[in-house]
Amino acid sequence: MTSAHIGVTVGRRLLAAESGQRQDAVFACPVDYCREIERAGAIPLLIPPWPQTGALIAEAARALAERMNGLLLTGGGDVDPVLFGEEPHPRIGVIDAQRDATEIALIHAAMERGLPVLAICRGIQVLNVALGGGLIQHLDSARQGAICHNQPGPATAPFHTIQIEPDTILARVMGEGEHRVNSTHHQALDGPAAGLIVSARACDGVIEAVESLEGAPIVGVQFHPERMAPDDSACRALFEWLVRESRIRATRG
Ligand code: MN
Repeated sequence: MTSAHIGVTVGRRLLAAESGQRQDAVFACPVDYCREIERAGAIPLLIPPWPQTGALIAEAARALAERMNGLLLTGGGDVDPVLFGEEPHPRIGVIDAQRDATEIALIHAAMERGLPVLAICRGIQVLNVALGGGLIQHLDSARQGAICHNQPGPATAPFHTIQIEPDTILARVMGEGEHRVNSTHHQALDGPAAGLIVSARACDGVIEAVESLEGAPIVGVQFHPERMAPDDSACRALFEWLVRESRIRATRG
């Protein structure tokens, strides 16, 4: 059987410098994402942020999309609010313009080729921005009916409930109705971008999942299924879905 290759986006961070040594910048991606892709039977291809811009980055993304069968957008820092027409909120986190540009180019290239996309946490946010939508830059914990979306304990444990809409890809993959998921985000979508529908919300209305309106294989989730997957079959099923959809493209060649 042909192995599917799934592009996995990677962030950058600075290593803490030992005294007298320079501070190294490294590419970083939690191993959980790759472990779940490998466990589901595909091969991850790590994609760092690229320095190119404009037409060059679109060209690079298209060339890479020819070599992969699916795309996984991983968690990380905040998306630059300039990309959805806002100035930074006082609680904005670290932003990386190169990572934003790379992931947005990859999303468009994957959609052009009809590749399946699973977008996790920061991923669902950059997906929404790539399609012309916006974000709530910081969830106000004082708003009416707000629940906590930044769990204090390890994100391997479920934390709050979401409601999955029937007749969605997410319902077919995880099951419709109530699920308990982890939560480590301070931002959220301010509404689905054109072409996306909301497939799950928390009880305070925060968008926890979106997918493509046209039934294209695009699913975004605000929680972290890769952290819960070892103990949660519904979370594992999301990676199995991505690999299954990617295999169909790999076999077509
Ligand atoms: Mn949440």
